[in-house]
Amino acid sequence: KTFKELGIDENILKGLEALGFETPTAVQEQVIPLMIEKQVDLVSLAQTGTGKTAAFGIPLIQWTNPSKRHTQSLVLCPTRELCIQVAKDLESFSKFVPKINILAVYGGARIDQQINSLQKGVQIIIATPGRLKDLLNRKAVNLSKINYVVFDEADEMLQMGFQDELTAILAHTPKEKNTLLFSATMPQEVARISQKYMSNPIELTI
Ligand code: AMP
Repeated sequence: KTFKELGIDENILKGLEALGFETPTAVQEQVIPLMIEKQVDLVSLAQTGTGKTAAFGIPLIQWTNPSKRHTQSLVLCPTRELCIQVAKDLESFSKFVPKINILAVYGGARIDQQINSLQKGVQIIIATPGRLKDLLNRKAVNLSKINYVVFDEADEMLQMGFQDELTAILAHTPKEKNTLLFSATMPQEVARISQKYMSNPIELTI
């Protein structure tokens, strides 16, 4: 299959072409049409290197309403490095999509600068759990109207002890939303997250 056959918009296809992406990877072929066609909760067992970032990132961009400035999607990542990489990838995919604002927020960097950037209106936030909780406590982020939450490398996040932060963050999100979970492994703790926060998720393995 081609990217076009997965239902991706023309302006995103241009971004993929500029990146040199020619054909979708297995996880992209599974996830993209599902997310583009309908509202879904899904769990995907996908390792790093499988193309999982584009698998969730492309549909998040396609579902973003550029005429609205409020935060519409949240991606949670275990580390600062992954946050930065995911934000960079999403920016590349949306290079030819006007008025999409993507921001990475993570610990170990100045929070006042992140607060300033958030005030400009960010539709897609990529965050580490600790920093996002801090920003929520300062009321610098509003997650009350988000449509998507993505747990990226969920097993890593739980292994790093972010359980309490994740619970606190999810309490700020609306009940009606889509939750997507990507994980290389499926330990008990990850299975519990999916049971607790997702409704009959579609489970995918590659
Ligand atoms: P990820 O698993 O999302 O970290 O992606 C792994 C690497 O594969 C990244 O360097 C991506 O830029 C690249 N990549 C992802 N999807 C494709 C694709 N369909 N064609 C070529 N490269 C890709």
